[in-house]
Amino acid sequence: MSLMNAKQYEESLRKLNFKIYMFGKLVENPVDDPIIRPSMNAVAATYELAHSPEHEDLVTATSHITGKKINRFTHIHHSTEDLVKKSKMGRLLGSLTGCCFQRCVGMDAMNALSMTTYDIDQKYGTQYNKHFLKFLEYVQENDLVCDGAMTDPKGDRGLAPHQQADPDMFMHVVEEREDGIVVRGAKCHQTGAVNSHEIITMPTISMREEDKDYAISFAVPADTEGITYILGRQSCDTRKREEGTMDRGNQIYGGHEALVVFDDVFVPWDRVFMYKEWDFAGQLVEQFASYHRQSYACKAGVGDVLIGATQCIAEYNGAQKASHVKDKIIEMNHLNETLFCGSLACAAEGHKEPSGTYYVNTLLANVCKQNVTRFPYEIARLAQDIAGGLMVTLPSEEDFRSPEVGKWVEKYYKGNADVSTEDRMRILRLIENITLGTAAVGYLTESMHGAGSPQAQRIMISRQVNMNAKKRVAKKLSGIDVDE
Ligand code: SF4
Ligand code: FE
Repeated sequence: MSLMNAKQYEESLRKLNFKIYMFGKLVENPVDDPIIRPSMNAVAATYELAHSPEHEDLVTATSHITGKKINRFTHIHHSTEDLVKKSKMGRLLGSLTGCCFQRCVGMDAMNALSMTTYDIDQKYGTQYNKHFLKFLEYVQENDLVCDGAMTDPKGDRGLAPHQQADPDMFMHVVEEREDGIVVRGAKCHQTGAVNSHEIITMPTISMREEDKDYAISFAVPADTEGITYILGRQSCDTRKREEGTMDRGNQIYGGHEALVVFDDVFVPWDRVFMYKEWDFAGQLVEQFASYHRQSYACKAGVGDVLIGATQCIAEYNGAQKASHVKDKIIEMNHLNETLFCGSLACAAEGHKEPSGTYYVNTLLANVCKQNVTRFPYEIARLAQDIAGGLMVTLPSEEDFRSPEVGKWVEKYYKGNADVSTEDRMRILRLIENITLGTAAVGYLTESMHGAGSPQAQRIMISRQVNMNAKKRVAKKLSGIDVDE
């Protein structure tokens, strides 16, 4: 089955034996849990769109291994057109779900591994690329979701992995067996982990020889024995447990992160993609991060939803004709399209690597992500400016439905006479959700820290610009001897 639909995806998750904790308790049925369900719905949208005649060109691709039609989230990019379609697919899904749809991390991990495993094999004569391609074919054939797990807890940031007081602060090998390895550690902030079939781990930083036990990459089924998920708390998350759904904001979708603990997990050799090749850890980190920095076209998609909601509330408030409101919405659009430009540009300027995989232009991918660390905050600020304070002082849905006080909420929170108070409340809740609630995790803080915090991109930008070429031309044009 190379292309699952949303229902089949949901059923496939039900078969997994996840060990997920939330509020101190084991979650018996994650798929139907009201807090987890919206994040599953968002991943399911990646399956649904693959069957939509309108979007299948973006959301499906042709496997370079089998020649079959597959979901683009399991595809290895084989042209700049593939890369551009990936950017467009991310924006599309963000603009339809209004949240993080989680499946990009696995796609980015697999594309990075398609290159790094090839390069390690070239240098050391190992078999990692063969292992990886076998795994990839399995993922493509079964249309699986993979969690691309990079971020280790890291302990004391001033110390290398081998110097940490607690050796488990970075994922490491604790036992080498004939049939595989046993690993221990954890991966933090794992987007979509509880909606994934497979977990692909990668090192989190560049390493030196002393850290070679930490230079590992592998893939295991998400319900492998020894793996425990502890769900991240999100602002306003328990609203999803309330009877009425209005206060959730987004009625259908959401994203979710988890701490994933690997307590002595066995990995067979054919699922190992890096083992102690410490000199390739930095390359894998950089390649995954660059692809994921491109992936943040998703933020322009979520921005589309926020801008749409802001235009609605301006109209519901009766303020849409005010020139400053119009101008602020133009500014929001300008910033949002600038985000998209970066993602498209790094894709269009991509190139072929020795493995055959197409890789983004890393300078432009870093510029893209640097903008993402800033612009969504400004877009959110403008949305809140136009929405007004009611967005955070609005009574609950229960008060709105109350036989005693509902009539006053209805009466005093009416704006434009043609719009119901309920619709005005609903759109305010959506803006609240994206800028302060559960979806703000993906739209704001993840924009800051996901795929590397802002300083990581600044370092890459400084490394990648050709300063000497710029200086040479400046000197030449001002009549300074260029050879000096
Ligand atoms: Fe994909 Fe964006 Fe979520 Fe990252 S934040 S997994 S790029 S939707
Ligand atoms: Fe992310």
